[in-house]
Amino acid sequence: MTRAEADEAARRFDGGDPQDLLAWAADRFAGRIVLTCSWQMQSSVLIHMTRPFADAIRVVDLDTGLLFPETYATRDALAARYGLELETFVPERTVAEQAADEGPELWARDPDRCCALRKVAPLSRALEGADAWITGIRRAQSDTRADARPVELDEARGVAKIQPLVAWSDEDVMGYLYAHDIPYNPLHDRGYPSIGCVPCTRAVAPGEDPRAGRWAGTGKTECGLHLPRAS
Ligand code: SF4
Repeated sequence: MTRAEADEAARRFDGGDPQDLLAWAADRFAGRIVLTCSWQMQSSVLIHMTRPFADAIRVVDLDTGLLFPETYATRDALAARYGLELETFVPERTVAEQAADEGPELWARDPDRCCALRKVAPLSRALEGADAWITGIRRAQSDTRADARPVELDEARGVAKIQPLVAWSDEDVMGYLYAHDIPYNPLHDRGYPSIGCVPCTRAVAPGEDPRAGRWAGTGKTECGLHLPRAS
């Protein structure tokens, strides 16, 4: 996709129905488009929304090996409910192998390297051969995502990013989940607006920044999956 086409599509779909964007993307990139799932509430919505286009869209499970039991249970519930043919991508090394090579609890000493090994590298393998990547990014999630657009270019990875929920609030997401009775990660109801790996995620207090529970106290705000916007 060219930058001009991405810009035109971003303007066309901004503020529109997410399903219209998904229908366009499934047709434009059929067989070469990937939905990655971290099994937070956005994943639940997007699994449901993409079912009409299931033949065109691959569904990828990014498993760091360090997710919450509730997260794995959510994945399994969604897979069973919707008959998903998941492609699971894991890090090259298990947590134990990583500890043996790099020392224990790499996440506490060098979270950027840990994310590079356990998240970014598997994503790169998942996107091999793909031209488009559906993400659950929303502007309301953080300041760093406030200018996200429905269609962007990730020039470093050579894919178009399709972001159907970019304009949705937390209430929009939860309303959709309730309206369609879709399984979702129960940690969202226990003070976890953003859910990642167990060692790097804590609950937040009411009124606290929704992403304050991720890598708390480290200054890190993103895992490296989502690079600075290129268009
Ligand atoms: S979120 Fe934490 S444990 Fe998970 S890959 Fe990143 S640094 Fe490692």
